[in-house]
Amino acid sequence: MVIAGRPNVGKSTLFNRLVGRAAAIVADTPGVTRDRKEATARLRGREVRLLDTAGLEEAAPETLAGRMRASSASAVAEADLVLFIVDARAGITPADSHFAAWLRRQGRKVLVVANKAEGRSGATAAMEAFSLGLGSPIAVSAEHGEGLADLMSEIADRLPPEAPAAEPAEDEAARPLKLAIVGRPNAGKSTLINRLLGEERMLTGPEPGLTREAIATRLHDPDGHVYELVDTAGLRRKARIEAPLEKMSVAASIAALRMAEVVVLTVDAVEGLHDQDLQIAKLIEREGRGCVIALNKWDAVENRAAARKAVTERLEDSLAQMKGIPVVAFSALTGAGIDRLLPAVRDLAAIWNTRIPTAALNRWFEQALARHPPPLVEGRRLKLRYITQAKARPPTFVIFGGRAGKLPEDYQRYLVNSLREEFSLPGVPIRLELRGTANPYADQS
Ligand code: GDP
Repeated sequence: MVIAGRPNVGKSTLFNRLVGRAAAIVADTPGVTRDRKEATARLRGREVRLLDTAGLEEAAPETLAGRMRASSASAVAEADLVLFIVDARAGITPADSHFAAWLRRQGRKVLVVANKAEGRSGATAAMEAFSLGLGSPIAVSAEHGEGLADLMSEIADRLPPEAPAAEPAEDEAARPLKLAIVGRPNAGKSTLINRLLGEERMLTGPEPGLTREAIATRLHDPDGHVYELVDTAGLRRKARIEAPLEKMSVAASIAALRMAEVVVLTVDAVEGLHDQDLQIAKLIEREGRGCVIALNKWDAVENRAAARKAVTERLEDSLAQMKGIPVVAFSALTGAGIDRLLPAVRDLAAIWNTRIPTAALNRWFEQALARHPPPLVEGRRLKLRYITQAKARPPTFVIFGGRAGKLPEDYQRYLVNSLREEFSLPGVPIRLELRGTANPYADQS
């Protein structure tokens, strides 16, 4: 939850009230709260992470206030709930209205809090905040402690449904990694699955899945990691439907990879990469999954160096948007080299789950922009201000800046490639979202 608003409306006082201790510095000088302050408050028995943002000041973005506003923007992007604080005594200012308009476009839940609304006259003044178009304002006096119980219960009502209790780290390791094994007919998928299951001899499935077709098969590796092979029912039955298999395999792959975190694309190494393999790989990218290429039938390949080279080159050329896909060569038939597959899958899953701290991201971002400035669009240079990671699985980043939505594709590709290299994110899709054309402050510089 984020607390935002103009300077001196009482954000820090309210923050302290909610947290229940003097965690932020409070002073009468506008903008004294320079940094984001974080604390955890308990509301109706739930832990709520509270972020006090300093300044959504209306000022040239080059100033300290402008930079602080940029940091509020990123906090808002990640928030479950934004408390937008206005000063009931001062009334609604143009800056409040601007910020409200911007907030409405961010698609976050917002609760308007009219602070400094002591006594009856204060409550009346607070109603002015209705005009912001963000719903009913809650009148409080953070300083006098009035209206806080109301506020807390309004907040609690707006919190997202309670997430299941955070699991301890060991349970996280025990949570099965969802794995799909896909590929063209005869690539050796069934052989691979049987090999994986046969080698481990720890099959705990099949367990009934959602439908009769989807059966979850569990697999344990020697290090105690658990995998769930999704949608392998058809493969294990090895239905002898010889019909239009070429078409079916792609359709079946889509269903399987949507359920998976990491997808093992099984390729017949004797034949090399087919167009259809690349087509499946592109689907994996589109669905945002991690991809490991399994070069199967390695025992039958005569010139291994050439085979590997051909595959990597083809991937470089045709799958630039997932640069660095791991390629593991083995023989499902003999078992040679197969022990490298699951570790590669785990490594990729870790990358897929990566979260990069905002500070490090922005250090890189500044350098990347300096090295290769954003292009002119319609005669003016795009001003990109800030980047933050919105989510993982796959890594997804949001860039804020004036007219950021106009960023040309090749520049986006440059940023993605540089990001991938800087933070070692090979082999996973990377998503970039652009925000800020709607930001009323963005183009004021
Ligand atoms: P699927 O259609 O992808 O499930 O492929 P299968 O697992 O049924 O395998 C197709 C054919 O390739 C079978 O004849 C397998 O014996 C053979 N095969 C699978 N893996 C290997 C391997 O590693 N080496 C060799 N030489 N043949 C294999």
